[in-house]
Amino acid sequence: MDKKSITDIDPNGKKVFVRVDFNVPLSSKDPNDDIQVTDDTRIRAALPTLNYLLDHGAALILASHLGRPTSAEDKQFAMDPVAARLSELLGRPVIKVDEVVGEEAAEAAANLQPGDVLLLENTRFEPGEKKNDLELAEQMAAMADIYVDDAFGSAHRAHSSTEGAAQAMRAKGGPAVAGFLMAKELEALGTAVSNPPHPYVAIMGGAKISDKIKLIDNLLQKADKILIGGGMANTFLAAQGYDMGKSLVEEDALPEAKRLLEAAPGRLILPVDVAVADTFSADAVRTEKNVDAIESFEMALDIGPETLKRFTEELQGAKLVVWNGPMGVFEFEQFAKGTDALAFVLADLVEEGAMVVIGGGDSAAAVKKADLTDKMTHVSTGGGASLELLEGKELPGIAVLDDK
Ligand code: ADP
Ligand code: MG
Repeated sequence: MDKKSITDIDPNGKKVFVRVDFNVPLSSKDPNDDIQVTDDTRIRAALPTLNYLLDHGAALILASHLGRPTSAEDKQFAMDPVAARLSELLGRPVIKVDEVVGEEAAEAAANLQPGDVLLLENTRFEPGEKKNDLELAEQMAAMADIYVDDAFGSAHRAHSSTEGAAQAMRAKGGPAVAGFLMAKELEALGTAVSNPPHPYVAIMGGAKISDKIKLIDNLLQKADKILIGGGMANTFLAAQGYDMGKSLVEEDALPEAKRLLEAAPGRLILPVDVAVADTFSADAVRTEKNVDAIESFEMALDIGPETLKRFTEELQGAKLVVWNGPMGVFEFEQFAKGTDALAFVLADLVEEGAMVVIGGGDSAAAVKKADLTDKMTHVSTGGGASLELLEGKELPGIAVLDDK
């Protein structure tokens, strides 16, 4: 995953097509309203790449998807509110066109001078985008001299604005490289996948094991130990013969759970105690007990204090920790305790020099909720993309970029 980045190219006097992730939340779904961007985190996150290119004499052509429009008629997903916010953040005008490709877009791109910024319309307004339509990709690449991908969260999808446009840029002899955000993701996740320091402890949680069997398989090849919490621990515990009461247990995945436990004796560490409740609700009462004492009417919604202690011990001295999946139903305050406490343990490990990488959408949300995002080595911005990468898959949007 040694890919070239924007520091390996000379953007001076060039037009640079940047695939950004401006998929931001909006204030309204009604196209007649004055729609605003309600959280500009993703726009801000792109600024280092955009400012670097502008400071080095480039003109920018920016493209992103926004929401899930079904056609170009879904005007509530137009990029205009994004253009307005971006212009404020960059402190310079942003030219917005009402199409992704076509005469208007091509002419606006042709007229760009160094320092100018053009934002194209929502890439998903083009029906060819998700089909990785070649002609669409070629029209995108035709507007620019250099292709930059800074949208890690979309890298697991081969779309025209990701894989296709990079391919088309290469075909016309131009570079296709990573922006700073993408490069940071590749460095952190790439280390975990291809060159992990040891001891390497992985932590897995979340709802289901069936979603993550491939991930666990791959982690078992690389990590020294895997600590398992959250809903998926229930299925492992059930596979060991514990009665999990009303807990979320995936009956269909029991054979896989048994296989994994047998494949890695002593390396999959399961909870010894859990926090249970008799209803699945935010105001349910938290009761902590050993895993062999769960009543038929109870469900496990978090790890217990003994488990946290055991996990903390296993983590001491780790050089690398990869965490995916919350330890419990962190959306309910009473059952966020295990997840929060673990996040604090990991923040301490970072201070002691360990590399701690968080992958997965809900895991990132849980760390953010605990206000510890800045304390981790890296919190991936790409939910699905980070998991696929950790599974050992090659992501089309990354594979296509120029090698170092
Ligand atoms: P990520 O998005 O980080 O990959 P997942 O989507 O796999 O994580 O899992 C997150 C979800 O798992 C959360 O919504 C959380 O409520 C749920 N979850 C965690 N522990 C349990 C549990 N014991 N029972 C039911 N759901 C759980
Ligand atoms: Mg999730």
